[in-house]
Amino acid sequence: MALKRLGEFGLISRIRARLKYRSGQTILGMGDDCAAYKPAPGKCQIVTTDTLTEDVHFKKNLIPPERLGYKALAVNISDIAAMGGTPRLALLTLGISAESSLPYLNKLIDGFLDACAQFKVELVGGDTVSSPKSLFISVTLIGEAPKNRLFTRHGAQPGNGVFVTGSLGNSALGLKLLAKKKPAWKGSPKDVKFLIDAHFSPVPRLMESKALSRSTAKITSMLDLSDGLAGDLTHICQAGEVGARLWEDRLPRSPAFINICAANKLSSAELILSGGEDYELLFTSPLKDAKKIPGLFKKAGSPVSQIGEITARPGKIVLVGNNGRETIVSPSQGFDHFKS
Ligand code: ADP
Ligand code: MG
Repeated sequence: MALKRLGEFGLISRIRARLKYRSGQTILGMGDDCAAYKPAPGKCQIVTTDTLTEDVHFKKNLIPPERLGYKALAVNISDIAAMGGTPRLALLTLGISAESSLPYLNKLIDGFLDACAQFKVELVGGDTVSSPKSLFISVTLIGEAPKNRLFTRHGAQPGNGVFVTGSLGNSALGLKLLAKKKPAWKGSPKDVKFLIDAHFSPVPRLMESKALSRSTAKITSMLDLSDGLAGDLTHICQAGEVGARLWEDRLPRSPAFINICAANKLSSAELILSGGEDYELLFTSPLKDAKKIPGLFKKAGSPVSQIGEITARPGKIVLVGNNGRETIVSPSQGFDHFKS
């Protein structure tokens, strides 16, 4: 059955019937002109939005609809984590064609609502509009953070270490593997699956962000890596009017990433610098504070690596290669929707 048989309000009722998680803060959830909720005392509200558009952010024939629903929430949670916040309430806008198949939409919505339950986010409203040519999913996410412990992009200081959670480049390489089946990629199916999963199902670093927020470590700047290390580190450098030096041999890589890059002669530094969609946390911290961080992350489960240091040369990012030679990293190595 196609959506045109069910109609807009039929679909909205279906979404409502499938909700799995309700928050104690909500006074009025889905179904009225607005949702209403009680903010937690002493916290500040933080809000973010991110959209996934067909043929720009995803290909419908490559990503399963459940994963797309999951990812639409996960990328927004990653932004909340980047500020040191906790996600609470979501609004979901679906741009869909009347010809969309209902089984497809059900899977998409279930993927989204499962992710809401997993991360304790209540869907409190949204909009459902016709978009005949391309599907889009736009999520607005409301979260909370301690007023005096908001992590922003501003504040990196020369001498600070540059740190990153997890490993980099997995998602970019996963997308490469997905997008081009021929010539066949060399590598084990297990490694290929790991990388494709990293692309479909990024894990927002909420636990790590919470561990940083609760600690006494001074975090001078932080963001989540969505557009590639080169572009995102440039944001931190511009905001702080500083530069950075990265060490190629310290860029954290997963075993699957190392294996597939080696087997197919791919430049791993290039994938990491310009690849994007890592959804890892990138942050800066004075070295004396940074000593506490690996211990904090033990429980959260993801490793943390120092990949470089902040320098006093505004806007200049250099990469110290494995051979010791320095090259300039250009911000344009990151992703920009409107630049070619
Ligand atoms: P209005 O016309 O007053 O803006 P709508 O008819 O667009 O309201 O939506 C009816 C209700 O359903 C509202 O509470 C809205 O927030 C909710 N809603 C609409 N689309 C979605 C969606 N995709 N996900 C969640 N809630 C939705
Ligand atoms: Mg209304």
